[in-house]
Amino acid sequence: MINRSVAHISPATALQMGKTTVKQPLPTQRVEQISPFLLLHHFGPTLVAPGEDPLDVGPHPHRGFEPVTFLFQGGIRHKDSQGNEGILQGGDVQWMTAGRGIIHSERASREFLETGGTMEGIQLWVNLPKAHKRAPARYQDIKAGQIPQLTLDEGRVSVAVVAGSFGEVKGPAQTYTPVTALTITLQAGGEVAIPLPEDHNALLYIVKGNVIVNGNFDYTAEQMLQFRNDGEGITLKAVDNSLVLVLAGEPIDEPLAQWGPYVMNTQTEIMEAMRDYQMGKMGFYID
Ligand code: MN
Repeated sequence: MINRSVAHISPATALQMGKTTVKQPLPTQRVEQISPFLLLHHFGPTLVAPGEDPLDVGPHPHRGFEPVTFLFQGGIRHKDSQGNEGILQGGDVQWMTAGRGIIHSERASREFLETGGTMEGIQLWVNLPKAHKRAPARYQDIKAGQIPQLTLDEGRVSVAVVAGSFGEVKGPAQTYTPVTALTITLQAGGEVAIPLPEDHNALLYIVKGNVIVNGNFDYTAEQMLQFRNDGEGITLKAVDNSLVLVLAGEPIDEPLAQWGPYVMNTQTEIMEAMRDYQMGKMGFYID
């Protein structure tokens, strides 16, 4: 396999969001997007006492893209204006299509509030092409048990296929454009070769640990690597026990207009989104 070379290294910068500090490697001042990926927030690991909610994100709208949550540890309760209510636990993934509009909240689950503990996860924004920006909102609640786990390299590497495929194995998430999302757990010394479509943009984010990429250099936690479209995949070898999110997707070659929670193609569509939210066209959130 010809490896895809590293184009750009982006360390995550800390960003205060309400009560939470999140680490943000995308976007940065230099990188607006890695289409179709717009934003990556790593929250936690935060250890809290019983009764404390380290998230406490109240109702807010979205339009024009897909907010995706990978929860590694903890418990989250999602509620939205479509009447969906979901509880995420460690290993679960929530793949939401904001489409024409949704209002949602994300808070610690009741169980987590009772016990306290560690909360850690990633929120990822995946863009939608113009043709699907006004798709009906959709909520995919994907439990850890529904996500195929491949065990490789004599048990030292485990690949969870959330979206797209790894070899013959397909992930359960439905996406509007081709997207690969893999969460890879490696024990120290574990090695894996990951094929990725050459014409798809690709990146990885190291949640935890230290990995050698393509046999060259090693990179540590809270760094994001963007790859060139110049090979068939990437290889990872863990220096320490590591957790890595690998993403690839077909680029969306369209103008980007973004304001706050809305991602559209033009400023006019952003204004329209703001107005539609005010007018209640994204539904009503009932707590
Ligand atoms: Mn949100």
